[in-house]
Amino acid sequence: MSPKRVPGSSLAKTPCKVCGAQSKHVISLADPKHEPHTLEIFRCTGCRLLFVGNPVSPEQLAAAYSAEDPLRYFDEIAVGTDRKVASALHDLDTLLRASGDSVSVLDVGCGDGRFLQTLQQRHPSVRALGQELPGPLASLWQAKGVRVYTGALENIVERFSVIVLLDVVEHVPDPNRSFVHCRSLLKERGHVYIHTPRLCFWDGLFLAATRIPGARWLSRAWLRTRISIFHLQLWTDTALTLSLQKAGLELVYLRPQTELSWPLERYLRVYLGERVHLPPLLLRPAAWLAHLLFVWPGTLRNKAICLARLPSGNPQPEPR
Ligand SMILES: [Zn+2]
Repeated sequence: MSPKRVPGSSLAKTPCKVCGAQSKHVISLADPKHEPHTLEIFRCTGCRLLFVGNPVSPEQLAAAYSAEDPLRYFDEIAVGTDRKVASALHDLDTLLRASGDSVSVLDVGCGDGRFLQTLQQRHPSVRALGQELPGPLASLWQAKGVRVYTGALENIVERFSVIVLLDVVEHVPDPNRSFVHCRSLLKERGHVYIHTPRLCFWDGLFLAATRIPGARWLSRAWLRTRISIFHLQLWTDTALTLSLQKAGLELVYLRPQTELSWPLERYLRVYLGERVHLPPLLLRPAAWLAHLLFVWPGTLRNKAICLARLPSGNPQPEPR
């Protein structure tokens, strides 16, 4: 069967960016406020990755990110970030203690430096560094006393015991390549620790609803919260495991978990109220329904928490 043709584009044969298998067009998402063009969303027939199929240039990404205010953004998600940092440090505690005094950690995409600051407070002997794009966050790093590389991963020559990627690998255009870079920065017996959005039961349900003409608006409203020019892929457990394996990393565990950056009410206000223009009177009942469906039964396992390692007996080449 020939792949579905995407009107006005040459994307009909877009291969999966992780496994290379044929992918099928699922839906088009347009958000002129944040993106220069309609995003064509594809789903891999092999690893089931959901991803933006449009070619996205570094210039387009830079323009999208520069339109956001990072100081305001990190302030808005501070409560969710604190929960995420606590969860990550709990997961890494044994690993950091077992590695002795010479342990070093690189927090890729370190944002406002909250993870690095907390890590340094709890584990003062750990050499903790971040990596981030240059910009207005530098004043925050300075205030928190954290050290940050402001360049590309491939330009770092130091090696690390643990590389941390908290909500990073959904942002990168070529995740296989990013994991290869991470692997090259590991010391022997080094680990990579990841938090990233994963495709959950509810995503599957709203993806199925894209085939029902009257329900497409609802699918679009949901999927806008999950995939965009910022979140270029929504991982399945299979796709994430495969991408790590392709980079030469061995999966230790992958744990689905509920993890929200904002309170649920805020997602509803932004995505249903501001973007779909749901009347304010309906937002309160929508919040009740969301709690009843997602929070109370614990069905929203929207994040993958993952630890991978360099296989033993697999020596790293000398640093460049
Ligand atoms: Zn795939």
